Amino acid sequence: MPGEFALIDRIRARAARRDDVVRGIGDDAAVLAAPAGHELIVTCDTLVAGVHFPDGTGPADVGYKTLAVNLSDLAAMAAAPAWCTLALTLPEGDDAWLDAFLDGFLELADEHGVSLVGGDTTRGPLAITVTALGLVPTGQALLRSGARAGEDIWVTGTLGDAAGGLAQWRQRGPASAKLRYRLDRPTPRVQAGLALRGLASAAVDLSDGLAADLGHVLAASGVGARLDLGRLPSSRTLADHFEENRRWELQLTGGDDYELCFTAPAANALAIEQAMAALELPATVVGQVEAEPGLRLLTPEGGAWSPPATGYQHFEGGHA
Ligand code: ADP
Ligand code: MG
Repeated sequence: MPGEFALIDRIRARAARRDDVVRGIGDDAAVLAAPAGHELIVTCDTLVAGVHFPDGTGPADVGYKTLAVNLSDLAAMAAAPAWCTLALTLPEGDDAWLDAFLDGFLELADEHGVSLVGGDTTRGPLAITVTALGLVPTGQALLRSGARAGEDIWVTGTLGDAAGGLAQWRQRGPASAKLRYRLDRPTPRVQAGLALRGLASAAVDLSDGLAADLGHVLAASGVGARLDLGRLPSSRTLADHFEENRRWELQLTGGDDYELCFTAPAANALAIEQAMAALELPATVVGQVEAEPGLRLLTPEGGAWSPPATGYQHFEGGHA
């Protein structure tokens, strides 16, 4: 693509470099020094304009979010993020767009000490693919398959804010800037993931909604669960904008929270509370793992509650 090398130079000039990057941007491939005694954790996510973020989302927010969703996957594995690559498909070689995109992308990369070590640059409809690589001491990755009947089900932070922000944007009505911010700038729970090594039995990050994502853990672990809707953590702002039933729907079936959902034996509850308190991150027990397969949703009165849908499905009328 014309201007490709100028764009790559712009990226290279701003990418920070960790000591363990033997060769970064500029050769045919990166050379990375993986430490002994660790496993490499690799994840890849694509964001497409109009599918994964509302049209008109600012380039800095797009940059931030593309890296955030990948770091969130590493967090859910209890991996320490180390390196990433960036495949950019751009409609035109737009320096101003790229600079703003890098502002958001590199802000988050620098915050977590992640080096951008390579990528690809092509012309076409806007799409961004990031591969993120992280490290875990051998055998300590948190998997989806470790949940056992009788364990607690936890979530970090609050749920539903991003889905609330998206719902307000779709309605073109009054919108909360706080909710919209949570949609555009999700916080990957990297430190929480690291702190959960040895404490949690299974984990997943919440990209498609608690019902669907917890469902993956239950299926992988061969168990079921009960969720107490009255315990789902909600921000003040979400509660101000949405009544209870709509809020549960957003919290259970809305996507883009990027909080962690994890399971742990009750004996670890105190240690988990202390670890999360040290990070100043709220964590809440929202239900229990049960032997009987399936997900049972209980209202505060103890009645059964059914959501209208389970989680966002791409290309089936989900995100605008
Ligand atoms: P090749 O043709 O050998 O694949 P490229 O010309 O595509 O090499 O890329 C040259 C260098 O620039 C490589 O190190 C590649 O990883 C890096 N690179 C290309 N695009 C990007 C990008 N969007 N972000 C970061 N690095 C990039
Ligand atoms: Mg080459």
